[in-house]
Amino acid sequence: MSRVYNFSAGPAVLPEEVLQEAADEMLDYQGTGMSVMEMSHRSKAYDDIIKTAEKDLRDLMNIPDNYKVLFLQGGASQQFAMIPMNLMKNKVADYIVTGQWAKKAWQEASKYGKANKIASSEDKTFSYIPDCSDLPISEDADYVYICENNTIYGTKFKELPNTKGKTLVADVSSCFLSEPVDVTKYGVIYGGVQKNIGPAGVVIVIIREDLITEDVLEGTPTMLQYKTHADAQSLYNTPPAYGIYICGKVFKWLKKMGGLEAMKKHNEEKAKILYDFLDQSKLFKGTVVPKDRSLMNVPFVTGDADMDAKFVKEATEAGFVNLKGHRTVGGMRASIYNAMPTEGVQKLVEFMKKFEEENA
Ligand SMILES: *Cc1c(COP(=O)(O)O)cnc(C)c1O
Repeated sequence: MSRVYNFSAGPAVLPEEVLQEAADEMLDYQGTGMSVMEMSHRSKAYDDIIKTAEKDLRDLMNIPDNYKVLFLQGGASQQFAMIPMNLMKNKVADYIVTGQWAKKAWQEASKYGKANKIASSEDKTFSYIPDCSDLPISEDADYVYICENNTIYGTKFKELPNTKGKTLVADVSSCFLSEPVDVTKYGVIYGGVQKNIGPAGVVIVIIREDLITEDVLEGTPTMLQYKTHADAQSLYNTPPAYGIYICGKVFKWLKKMGGLEAMKKHNEEKAKILYDFLDQSKLFKGTVVPKDRSLMNVPFVTGDADMDAKFVKEATEAGFVNLKGHRTVGGMRASIYNAMPTEGVQKLVEFMKKFEEENA
């Protein structure tokens, strides 16, 4: 068996010991004589799995009792519609557009009401986070929406926007559990798990209870109402059962690693190795305004598309895979999520140094 260093933006690297444990339990989960994949979601064994997963996530993020944790399907993209359908009581919401994902969410919300783009960084290819300290928040906005870490562009909100008292809704798909968060500052925190937590097919929604009501937009399907899933503790219908089981294992792994404070420190140290190299390199350069740099997604370029392609090809041959940048940005992107070991980033930087010398 040989494993590569996988810098994919998602689905992405998972902790090796979690994969090993899942492999060990594949045919017989803890004496049940079956795989978790083959198990009823109404069984006692599965009930323990989903309840323990929720409890561990609550511990990790310090989630207050007045927030529900929902394990849903449809990916983060389904939430682009589910959020306005459930939260747009006045049919008005304010969107801060800092990348493709925020833009898609804004466009989707426009189908259901008045979605105002109150700030954007599109003028500079989303390479920075706009000043959000005094935005023209709409008087009757039902919520203010952000994408907290912009997976494609490699920017991160280091400070939450001033919503002037309005409910904050955040897509945290690519920074989920990468550092501590104050849940009380948000109305909704959600993310697809395939970036930093588990296998594709699960989206986790953490939502304040008062936002879960029957008063949703007319025609909202039962499956797209938060209340349906909140009332049934994520077991209204068959949940993405195996995916949730793997997420649960990652939560245990995070607790063992020391929780989110420790993860933040680890992620800062790891990202610094790469950013420090980029800042002194004569060949490679980062594409993001330094103060807004993400700890999770690091885009960089040489400024020459042929050289970029040569780098990606040689890196792949050397076992550093999925470094090609998003098709809308070009260049390279190293996604260095929680499960990417420091060693992986150190070795990548060594490889980049060597490449730079050879191509000077
Ligand atoms: C990947 C990603 C999405 C889309 O996720 P899907 O689960 O594929 O719908 C949305 N937002 C962010 C920030 C992402 O990184």
